[in-house]
Amino acid sequence: MRIAVFPGSFDPITLGHYDIVERAAPLFDKIIIAIGQNSQKKYMFSLEQRKEFIQKTFKDFPNVEVDSFEGLTIDYCQSKKVNFILRGLRNPADFEFEKAIAQTNRTLTHDNKIETIFLLTSAGKSFISSSIVREIISFKGHYELLVPDSVRV
Ligand code: ADP
Repeated sequence: MRIAVFPGSFDPITLGHYDIVERAAPLFDKIIIAIGQNSQKKYMFSLEQRKEFIQKTFKDFPNVEVDSFEGLTIDYCQSKKVNFILRGLRNPADFEFEKAIAQTNRTLTHDNKIETIFLLTSAGKSFISSSIVREIISFKGHYELLVPDSVRV
C-alpha cells in the first residue's frame, strides 16, 4: 500500500492545503492528514476544531483520513509504517525550508527511507497561507474566500 502522511499545523486548513490533498488523493492508496500538535506553540484553533474542519472538508474522500501527533514527523510516520511524506511548495522560501527538512529526515531514517513527495501549488493558490487567514479572521475580513466551506468561525 502506498500511504502518505500530509503533516502540518492546519491552523486552519486553507484552499491551498485542499488543492494539494485533492491532487494527491489519486496518487496514493491512502493519505493521512496529520495535525502536528506542539505544546510550545499557540494556535488560533484547538486541535479538536482543526480536526473537525478537516474531517468535514474531506468527508467525500474515501482514502483521506485525519489524525494528530506530537513530536517528530518521521517518528509518527514510522509508528504508522508510512514511507511517504507529502508537502506542498508555494515559492522559493518553501523550497529552501522543505529541502533542509526532507534531507534531514532522510538522514535520520537512513535504514528505513522515507521519501518526501512535493506537489507544486496550483496557480492562484500560492499566496494562501494559514497565517494570513488567521490575520484576516482576527480583523473580521472575508476569510471565507481562502478556506474550504467547512471552516467557519
Ligand atoms: P507547517 O506548520 O508544517 O508549515 P502548514 O499547515 O502551514 O504547516 O502547511 C502544511 C503543508 O501545506 C506544507 O507542506 C505547506 O507548504 C503546504 N501548504 C500550505 N499552504 C499551501 C498553499 N497555498 N499551496 C500549496 N501548499 C500549501
